[in-house]
Amino acid sequence: MELRLPAPSLVVLVGPSGSGKSTWAAEHFASTEVVSSDALRAVVGAGEDDQAASTVAFELLETIVTERLRRGLTTVIDTLGLDDDARMRWIGQAHEAAMPAHAIVFDTPDAVCRERNATRARPIPKSALDRQLARFKKVAPQLAQDPFDGVHEQRPVAVVTPSVARVSERPSGTAVTAAHTFGLVVSRFDWGDADLAKTLTSIARRAEDAGFRDIWLMDHFRQIGAVGRPWEDLPEAYVTLGHVAGVTSTIRLGALVSGITHRHPVVLGKMIASLDVLSGGRAICGLGVAWDEKEHAAYGIDFPPVGTRYELLEETLQMLPLLWGKGSPEFHGEHIEADELVCYPRPIQDPIPMMVGGSGERKTLRLVARYADMCNLFGDPSTIAGRVATLERHCADFERDPSAIEVTHLTNALSAPNRNSLRERVDLLRGRNTPAEEYMARSNAGTVGDLVELFAAYGEAGASHSIVSMPDVSMEGSIETFAEVIASFGPS
Ligand code: GDP
Ligand code: MG
Repeated sequence: MELRLPAPSLVVLVGPSGSGKSTWAAEHFASTEVVSSDALRAVVGAGEDDQAASTVAFELLETIVTERLRRGLTTVIDTLGLDDDARMRWIGQAHEAAMPAHAIVFDTPDAVCRERNATRARPIPKSALDRQLARFKKVAPQLAQDPFDGVHEQRPVAVVTPSVARVSERPSGTAVTAAHTFGLVVSRFDWGDADLAKTLTSIARRAEDAGFRDIWLMDHFRQIGAVGRPWEDLPEAYVTLGHVAGVTSTIRLGALVSGITHRHPVVLGKMIASLDVLSGGRAICGLGVAWDEKEHAAYGIDFPPVGTRYELLEETLQMLPLLWGKGSPEFHGEHIEADELVCYPRPIQDPIPMMVGGSGERKTLRLVARYADMCNLFGDPSTIAGRVATLERHCADFERDPSAIEVTHLTNALSAPNRNSLRERVDLLRGRNTPAEEYMARSNAGTVGDLVELFAAYGEAGASHSIVSMPDVSMEGSIETFAEVIASFGPS
């Protein structure tokens, strides 16, 4: 199993000449991440072995290391690593930049180092190699006393998204222990092509083929700030879900989630009932208290105080099953007054599952415990575990079986078959001023193996359904690669 270090990290190689440092670095890191004294000698001198260029090469190495660490970029220092002061300086700089520092020790047998040296085009003098080997024997056992975050024997290493590095350390390791399902949220439509419907059709069908259980759209009337600019394309959620229903056959459909203020609750319920009928029983009713005050103001939609919005959400959760159920019941709440809740055709699902979105522990999760079939949480696995515990406490208050509520969570995901293709995709997608590692962290970028671990950790935390937003959703191979993550959790 490869060692997974969080991006960005400082990696200091420690080993005599010929111990395999440069070979290892080239295998596991991009060439731009490796700062090598030999390579710098060749840049400013006659070649990698030009001793006259040593002083300048080491000055440059220090400058490059300082600048890279200051910018929070993964840096591999490929020099002997036998100078105590230098190691302390590098570790200090990394820690100042809030980056972990790890040492990789190349404990290669002396005879192998000597033999490799002898076969080099320009070997270093035997006496110099002897000194390095002796010095290595002294330094190696003492590395544990350096303030490194880890000292490791030479082994495969990958610098991965911090969220993945964190879960790799958990006791159960990579084991996929439970069934886990996935949803896809399409939150951005800036595909730069004229035919939005065609691209969306393709995404929805690819998602269905990939094994996504559901597809979600945000319920907003203009793009939200966290995703893009207000003037980006953003079609209305339910009209668009109707289209998706028509071009797919099994994938479930919902808004993640509908602001309770966005439409009259009965109108919303009627729309979702129609979606359920037209899709053959595939609708999910996602509800939340709404938050985008500016959006409401922009369109002249009422935005009552948060307490009122919670009351409206609660009444809606009480009212919808009446609307979707038999007969023409009346409903008299503080906010919803209805004399005859008739809805024909009646929905196919009885009842349509209701999801309440949001992680608020005091109010939102209490409404989930009392009324909802699903919830949708944010946060990393440990945060989710805490919220699931809260939800279970609320369930106890209402004598509700917590296992009757499906815990889902929302996160970004960017997947690629291997580290090189992941790097390429990140470079393609990140903005000009966003360092690759920052983009990777934000998008939860990982190989298929990384993401399987990440979602297994979410499963262990109590969320059995992951709804992912993929920044490359419209690009070739994105959904298909994620299909491998889904398949790793077995048939859903
Ligand atoms: P450095 O001086 O520590 O940077 O060592 P290099 O990475 O330059 O390796 C020295 C020589 O050993 C090169 O010719 C490499 O091809 C070879 N070498 C390095 N690692 C390995 C290894 O794991 N297996 C084998 N067979 N050769 C290696
Ligand atoms: Mg080397």
